[in-house]
Amino acid sequence: MGKKGDENRNGPAQQHLDLSRMLAERGVTRRDFMKFCTAMSAALALPVTFAPKIARALDEVQRPTLVWLEFQDCAGNTEALLRAANPTVAEIVLDILSVDYHETIMAAAGHQAEEALAKVVREQKGKYIAVVEGSIPLKDGGVYCCVGGRTAVDIAREVCGNAFATITAGTCAAYGGIPAAAPNPTGAVGVKAAVPGATVINLPGCPLNADNLTATIVHFLVFGKLPATDSHGRPLFAYGKRIHDNCERRPHFDAGQYVEKWGDTGHRKGHCLYRMGCKGPETWHNCPSQKYNDKTGWPIGAGHGCVGCSEPQFWDTMTPFYRRLPQVPGFGIETTADKIGLGLASATALAFAAHGVISAFRHGDESEGAKED
Ligand code: SF4
Repeated sequence: MGKKGDENRNGPAQQHLDLSRMLAERGVTRRDFMKFCTAMSAALALPVTFAPKIARALDEVQRPTLVWLEFQDCAGNTEALLRAANPTVAEIVLDILSVDYHETIMAAAGHQAEEALAKVVREQKGKYIAVVEGSIPLKDGGVYCCVGGRTAVDIAREVCGNAFATITAGTCAAYGGIPAAAPNPTGAVGVKAAVPGATVINLPGCPLNADNLTATIVHFLVFGKLPATDSHGRPLFAYGKRIHDNCERRPHFDAGQYVEKWGDTGHRKGHCLYRMGCKGPETWHNCPSQKYNDKTGWPIGAGHGCVGCSEPQFWDTMTPFYRRLPQVPGFGIETTADKIGLGLASATALAFAAHGVISAFRHGDESEGAKED
């Protein structure tokens, strides 16, 4: 990564940032900053020992220019960022970036705003980061979403096509999302489909998790490159594991303890939501660890199954949301799911038997060891 005053010709346009001074001016303590760096290490699935390295790198960072485009969407991702429960993190993100254009929050309007965007594209070609929120309609020449008299696809091709990289914020920008659900009346698609030549990293979710956006930007600022992605363009640090594999209700799935009806005893006890249609077994996202609202909650924690919102074409592939998945790896097809409890009972009995034998040996060893001591 570039040192102070360096010119990074291959990376985004950057201005020098004295982060320590900026944070001090805003009353953010060094302790808060270190907490943020530790949280970013965790989000990026790095060892906690990386926190001081992230802090050092951010102290020396150059300030990248970012433009945020808003197309066919509900602005939920902007809300997720601005309503972050932890204002310190949001402030740091906004301090790190030079946000030159954001239709929803910028003070400028009309021609003045559009000129700000044109100036970035003109003067910082190949060096700025674009964030896109919302899908891009292609049908009928793209007339279903226009900003400043131009179609979204026209703007995206110019802005994303000339950016160093584009981050899609939310499922609509990544894969078309809800506007692309059948019958997709506007021909909505995600950024990569609309601008095939652009460098795109997808952060799907409805909305995206603001911490994953922060972590993606921090990864770029610290390591000078975008994080590794899966075949759907999603960073592995955030989308490398299935929700089902990290779910707090997983022990109940393994034990064959399911919610059968909303509000039943199993529901009140926090049992597995598989039979209520949970899509966690087929959804890749770090919701169980990152959670939302300052890490206090997430849909499954609140008692509702995952709807698979971070998967491509989730509305068409995951609905009906309350119909259970026909096949879950590990337990075979649905017809056997009803027998999981019975199967597990015998498996558990065997496990207990084995556990008893092992425990007996262990206790024997310990008593022998105790004798030797
Ligand atoms: S089926 Fe859903 S609720 Fe049950 S363990 Fe998997 S992800 Fe969690």
